[in-house]
Amino acid sequence: MNQNVRKRREIEDYLATIQFLSEGTNDTFFVWDIKTGQIYFSEDVYEKYPLPFHGGEGNTLQECEAIVFERDREQFMSQMKLIADGKEESVNMQFRLVEKEGNKQWVTCRGKSRMDGQYDPVWMLGRISSGELRQKVDLLTGLFNVDKFMEDMQMCHDRGASGYLMILGIDNLKNINIKYGREYGNYVLKKVTENLEEVITSAGNIYRLDGDCFAIMLPNAEQEKVAELYGVIRKNVADYCTVSAGSAFCSPSCNEDCSLIYQYAEDALDRAKKEGKNMLRFFSRDSYEKRLNTLRLQEELAQSVQDGCEGFYLCYQPFINNHDFSLWGCEALLRYASPSRGKMSPVEFIPLLEDTELICPVGEWVLQRALEQCREWRKWMPNFHVNVNVSYVQLRKEGICERVLELLRRSGLPGSALSLEVTESMQLEDYQYFNDIFFRWKMAGINIAIDDFGTGYSSLGYLKSIVADEVKIDRCFVTDIQRGSYDYKLLGNVIELAHSAEIKVCCEGVEKEEELMVLQELEPDVIQGYLFGKPCEKEEFETQYVR
Ligand code: C2E
Ligand code: CA
Ligand code: CA
Repeated sequence: MNQNVRKRREIEDYLATIQFLSEGTNDTFFVWDIKTGQIYFSEDVYEKYPLPFHGGEGNTLQECEAIVFERDREQFMSQMKLIADGKEESVNMQFRLVEKEGNKQWVTCRGKSRMDGQYDPVWMLGRISSGELRQKVDLLTGLFNVDKFMEDMQMCHDRGASGYLMILGIDNLKNINIKYGREYGNYVLKKVTENLEEVITSAGNIYRLDGDCFAIMLPNAEQEKVAELYGVIRKNVADYCTVSAGSAFCSPSCNEDCSLIYQYAEDALDRAKKEGKNMLRFFSRDSYEKRLNTLRLQEELAQSVQDGCEGFYLCYQPFINNHDFSLWGCEALLRYASPSRGKMSPVEFIPLLEDTELICPVGEWVLQRALEQCREWRKWMPNFHVNVNVSYVQLRKEGICERVLELLRRSGLPGSALSLEVTESMQLEDYQYFNDIFFRWKMAGINIAIDDFGTGYSSLGYLKSIVADEVKIDRCFVTDIQRGSYDYKLLGNVIELAHSAEIKVCCEGVEKEEELMVLQELEPDVIQGYLFGKPCEKEEFETQYVR
């Protein structure tokens, strides 16, 4: 039999087979005659894709390339070339085909070649399937979704690949949606997608994660390359939005599983957002550990609060009258004995309590304890006075005004036994709201003290807007006051001004005799500091100062 005839028969056999196969599934089958370059498809392909039909003849590789989405063509052609050159015997690739209506559709294409001898490929038999990836594509952007991302990450990891993972987030997408409507939000997502596809040239390495985030896998990339890519993306999308990104390195020697790498990149993204958005941050082990540590402490604190503020206790620091150095009262200062890390300073845990609003129940607990203590000590010192710190988070909480008054009433103490310290640095922008609360407290006899005075930015103006009875001048103005004339003058003016408005002045943080000597010339009313006593627990305070 003539060789050509034999070949024709073979082709017809193949065609019958692929036609038969394709009728049982939604997939498309093909035979590639590598020697002639002709590719024969099962007929369904011509209904779906704009591939020229030559009446039973095959199509050229170039005709096929034309229905592959532009961005994926390079990868498609290079894989086909590997087969044609006999360098690979099988392919398993993913690319997008453009349908007749212009829609892009992700497909998987698997195929295996038949060799003549060892290196001479003759045929390839293949199957193109769109069903497999349908569940893994994000409908809005046409990118792969988070499921596919996790799979691919795992695959890269198993293959021992290394490179960077970048998670890119659109800044303030929620606000964009609210301001301009969801339609526009979607438009921004699509625009960012387009831009990403332009910049990240290897197909299928971009994924849309939930909401406003994209993942980009950058195999073999260097850190500088990642930063450069981010810079280009940021510039290209600038007309629509700003973007933040976090990136983490992943290599087989990292020994971490891929969900952890994802977490690392997300952590870096969180940091980029926290630090002001519109920037790229690389994962840092240190800040990650710190955050984990914080989260654990937060959990511990929450548990303690749930257990009736177990582990919290108060220390008391004396206040001294400046004119005769007699004891005026104390400031109640919160402490925490953590089950895992022992005694902790409030500077470490109060911000965490504030972040989670746990400061509200804890603050009430402090107030109640401090009032109880004050009442007990009043048995020895009838005019004993207690200062309690109130966080701005507590002040913002509805009902705070009444709850404080209720706790005072239950303690049986007169309001004049209590000062509530609020910090100036809390930027009380809503003076009216706070003044209403302070005013009602003052009606009950409670003193309002402004803490850390001088550290905020509006110190003096502030005195006019807030109904305060007392200011506590921050330690930084007091430290080494004997050395500088500027601080001395400033402090003198502040004290004079306060006094002229009948506001009492307390100087915090007096540690040295020299400081005290100079301060006395300025005549503050009350002094607090290590020189007179450090904060100490109830028993010690009692024996040292009360009895
Ligand atoms: P603060 O209200 O300014 O309290 C004074 C802090 O200065 C205390 O630190 C005290 O120990 C320290 N101090 C007093 N005299 C001296 C001194 O002479 N030298 C030095 N170097 N330090 C001195 P502490 O107890 O660590 O408290 C830190 C901060 O934690 C407090 O600053 C306050 O803002 C906050 N805090 C403490 N207890 C509570 C609380 O019950 N509720 C709220 N919301 N905040 C609290
Ligand atoms: Ca204070
Ligand atoms: Ca203070």
